[in-house]
Amino acid sequence: MSVFSAPSFDSHEQVVFGADRSSGLRAIIAVHDTRLGAAVGGCRMYPYATESEAIDDVLRLSRGMTYKSALAGLPLGGGKSVIIGDPARDKTGELWRAMAKFIDSLGGRYVAAEDSGTSVGDLQAMSHYTDHVSGFAATEHGGDPSPSTARGVFVAIRTALAHRLGASDFHGVRVAIQGLGHVGFSLAGLLKNAGAEVLASDISAAHLARAVAELGVTPVASESILYEDVDVLAPCALGGALNAASIASLRAGIIAGAANNQLREAADGGRLADRGILYCPDFLINAGGIIDVHYQRSGLDRADLNAHIESIGDRLAEVLQRADRCHRPTGEIAEELAEELLDARAPVHEPLRSVA
Ligand code: NAD
Repeated sequence: MSVFSAPSFDSHEQVVFGADRSSGLRAIIAVHDTRLGAAVGGCRMYPYATESEAIDDVLRLSRGMTYKSALAGLPLGGGKSVIIGDPARDKTGELWRAMAKFIDSLGGRYVAAEDSGTSVGDLQAMSHYTDHVSGFAATEHGGDPSPSTARGVFVAIRTALAHRLGASDFHGVRVAIQGLGHVGFSLAGLLKNAGAEVLASDISAAHLARAVAELGVTPVASESILYEDVDVLAPCALGGALNAASIASLRAGIIAGAANNQLREAADGGRLADRGILYCPDFLINAGGIIDVHYQRSGLDRADLNAHIESIGDRLAEVLQRADRCHRPTGEIAEELAEELLDARAPVHEPLRSVA
């Protein structure tokens, strides 16, 4: 596959391939943009079927991180890393050491955080070999940023419901959640507490059973969760859930979830708009985790964290209003706003200091 001419390349500053024979590590780090600061983004582990799939994923995700941090008002750039491997089988101490050294070789231009397939424990393992990992500090929630991501998505759903339906609370609101992992489970809890009816699916029977037992969500088959008759659909599994085929059959009026790259291709934003479905751009509303990571790393007062996460709602409202005025897809408007913020800020690249 070509890299420079791939649509997802989009002027990345740096893409680095790393391999280590003894641990079997095969990984890619993508640094999209460091105009606002060091590129901070998750380290994903996934058994990609092909190398092209891994390259495309890391490029799309790192670009999303640039926009996410800019829209969240953070002094951070955008980057991401992927490890080609099965998180259930291929994790070893040697692998984390090799990945940590790979990250360290970029000298702080890229800082890794937790992502799908990696855990706080994995980041802790890497922290023995590099300063440039985050999201595992000893805080009241153990450093896991997922509850903050869920809180940001919750705020976004509240904003979208007010914008679209004039709703002031969650009573009578039906939400379908695809994926009950770190974020989906927390989100389900927040929604249930607020009085929403929550339908949910997970390909892991154990994850689904736990949410049914502990939160009282209504279980739904994985094949049908996207097509439930609900007010809000929250994709919280992997990317690509929204594509030409699935969009044609959606029944939700609002899409607001945590998964990165929910749109399979850019045209899907137009398809959703054409169907009158309000799409809350993923890179805008799932910023709670990166905001949390920034607070952990910078030693900022966590008392201000919730207010910062609440500001996701204000930014989303701005995007939804602009999109209404211009009759254009919300994702395009959010990207445009992010570019404006990137252009307006002076470059401030400095490697972040670890607080761990
Ligand atoms: P996770 O791996 O903990 O959870 C994902 C869950 O989705 C798992 O329970 C998995 O079994 C389930 N799943 C996978 N495919 C499914 C399918 N087809 N149908 C139903 N369930 C399915 O991941 P997470 O940390 O909860 O993150 C979820 C999504 O949000 C990912 O796309 C991630 O990149 C994104 N995200 C996470 C954070 C964070 O703070 N963790 C921040 C921003 C974005």
